[in-house]
Amino acid sequence: MPITVLDHPLAHHYLSVLRDKTTDPETFRAAARRLTYALLMEATRDLPTSTTTVETPLEPTEGKVASPVVAIAVLRAGLGLLDAVIDMIPHVKVGFAGVQRNEETAEPIEYYFKPPDLEDATVLVLEPMLATGGSLSWAVSKAKESGATNIICLCVVAAPEGVAAMESAHPDVRIVAATLDAGLNPSFYITPGLGDMGDRLFGTT
Ligand code: URA
Repeated sequence: MPITVLDHPLAHHYLSVLRDKTTDPETFRAAARRLTYALLMEATRDLPTSTTTVETPLEPTEGKVASPVVAIAVLRAGLGLLDAVIDMIPHVKVGFAGVQRNEETAEPIEYYFKPPDLEDATVLVLEPMLATGGSLSWAVSKAKESGATNIICLCVVAAPEGVAAMESAHPDVRIVAATLDAGLNPSFYITPGLGDMGDRLFGTT
C-alpha cells in the first residue's frame, strides 16, 4: 500500500502551525484548510478525466473534465478537511462516517455511516489522524462494502502503527499524509503529533 508524504514548504509551514500548542482554533482551522489543498493536489494527481472542447476567445482547444469524486469525512476530525475539498472540487458528493474511539483500548466504536452513490467515483476518505488505523480501516471497509473501488485516504499525521494496520487490511488503498510521525504514546496519541485534532478544531478539551 503506497503512502505519499508531502514534501512542500507550504505543507511544512501549515503542519507546523497545526502542531504548535499555542495555535488558537480559528488559526488551526485555517491552517487545516490550507494544508488540505496540498493534500488534495497530491491525492488527485491520477484522477481520471474526459476530453472536451473549449472555445477560448481565440479558437477551440481541447479541455479536460474531472471525473466524479466522493469524499467521506470521518467524524469529527475529518470535518476539518472538508471545506477545502468542497472548495477545490465543487462537484464532490459527500458522505459521513461516524466512529468514536474507546479511549482505553483505542478500538473504534461505529455509530453512523452514510455514503452517497460510490460507483465509478474516486473516493477520498478524510481522516486527519492515522493513529492505530482502527477508524480509518473501518471507514475504508464500509466504503468498499458500499461499492468503492478506488479509494485514497487524506491524513494530516500518520503513525507507523496505523500505516502498518492499513497495509495489512487494505493494501490496495493509497494514503497521502503531511507527515509520518514517530509513533504512538501509551494513550494512543501520535507523537510528536498535534494533540486531539477534533478538540483543536472545535475548541473543546
Ligand atoms: N486522534 C487525534 O486526534 N490525535 C491523535 O494523536 C490520535 C488520534
